[in-house]
Amino acid sequence: GKGAAMVTAVAYRLAEQSRQIAEILSEFRLTTEQLLEVKKRMRTEIQNGLSKSTQDTATVKMLPTFVRSTPDGTEHGDFLALDLGGTNFRVLMVKIRSGKRRTVEMHNKIYAIPLEVMQGTGEELFDHIVHCISDFLDYMGMKNARLPLGFTFSFPCRQTSLDAGILVTWTKGFKATDCEGEDVVGLLREAIKRREEFDLDVVAVVNDTVGTMMTCAYEEPTCEIGLIAGTGSNACYMEEMRNIEMIEGDQGRMCVNMEWGAFGDNGCLDDIRTEYDRAVDDFSLNPGKQRYEKMCSGMYLGEIVRNILIDMTKKGFLFRGQISETLKTRGIFETKFLSQIESDRLALLQVRSILQHLGLDSTCDDSIIVKEVCGAVSHRAAQLCGAGMAAVVDKIRENRGLDHLDITVGVDGTLYKLHPHFSGIMHQTVAELAPQCNVKFLLSEDGSGKGAALITAVGCRLRQELNN
Ligand code: BGC
Ligand code: MG
Repeated sequence: GKGAAMVTAVAYRLAEQSRQIAEILSEFRLTTEQLLEVKKRMRTEIQNGLSKSTQDTATVKMLPTFVRSTPDGTEHGDFLALDLGGTNFRVLMVKIRSGKRRTVEMHNKIYAIPLEVMQGTGEELFDHIVHCISDFLDYMGMKNARLPLGFTFSFPCRQTSLDAGILVTWTKGFKATDCEGEDVVGLLREAIKRREEFDLDVVAVVNDTVGTMMTCAYEEPTCEIGLIAGTGSNACYMEEMRNIEMIEGDQGRMCVNMEWGAFGDNGCLDDIRTEYDRAVDDFSLNPGKQRYEKMCSGMYLGEIVRNILIDMTKKGFLFRGQISETLKTRGIFETKFLSQIESDRLALLQVRSILQHLGLDSTCDDSIIVKEVCGAVSHRAAQLCGAGMAAVVDKIRENRGLDHLDITVGVDGTLYKLHPHFSGIMHQTVAELAPQCNVKFLLSEDGSGKGAALITAVGCRLRQELNN
């Protein structure tokens, strides 16, 4: 009768709806062939970044860091470190003891960087940083010490020495004026001078990937790669000097900051980018830039999710077809929420309460779909990151003419640490795509700060040796 016909109609509509949802999400499911293709393209871009003739226009910039060796255990002293560019801005005091009982003792304080400072003038940003250092030195009672400082600055910098780095471009949420094209160590030194309150000896500017690698290498000598899967995404590794054509000399190795976040900026990933990736890019602070990062890192995954949810709501699959103000708000799905939503220990009811907490009224069906969307987006992110890493480990293996390579990657970043599945999927992808490498991943606790101190220590030692 009529009732049965209605039931059939509803059932048909639901089946059609889940087919369409599956179709949207299928774009995020990459095949092994596609991932191998991503790996291959990353390898091409690595080569472009290293070669003199292509370096100028390369998207993956392969920036030399002037870090030529991992720590040897003789590093020691008291150091100040700054960590700018991750989830938190921190000032740290790091005491490194060498000898038989090597220890690293750290004190640190987290400071907020208000949005208007991140996106104000460069002078305001650096004055704020120095203000925080001043507060920290008071807190530690060390204002008169003139400590050596290592500056972890997690943005692309063209370095000409350990203590000079010209900011190529801001990434992530930063956009302070008058900094791009400037030496950030110079900007820091000028701000310290302006304050006329204390003096510091800025010894090194360090990318967070490099700090992370160095921290892990301090414990584990096979660590020659650093990886950040956090707010942003990037990797560094020890490359043969003979392959770094921009730097004189063929002996030994130097750590290269890949800046792989910019992979795809020449369009080479366009075939796998979705309309949602394009929307996230278009409305970001840096349209057209950091396209791989925008598919892989914590700052953007939530935005991809949000764009999919908006589309599904428009199509009537979610939230009763109502696009709320909340859903229109950029940045609502932070890494920690995505991580919670995808946690296997959570019942759907709890997923609903997380959504509720974000201001999204959901039905039980809604919450199932939201969880599926999050899963598809983070799964792809982990696979893409794994494909990039597979390219790196195979490059190192070939550099050394080996059939088999054992290597360790030092890793840090909120996505890697907080997300319930990201790390596992990433590891598995690397194993699959680089079968000739046995890759261990070592979590680097507090890697960027400690690493900056270790690099500063090496810098101080080398400077002394030069003076003697
Ligand atoms: C920056 C890199 C940094 C990475 C992780 C990217 O946006 O360009 O320099 O290593 O984020 O923090
Ligand atoms: Mg960090």
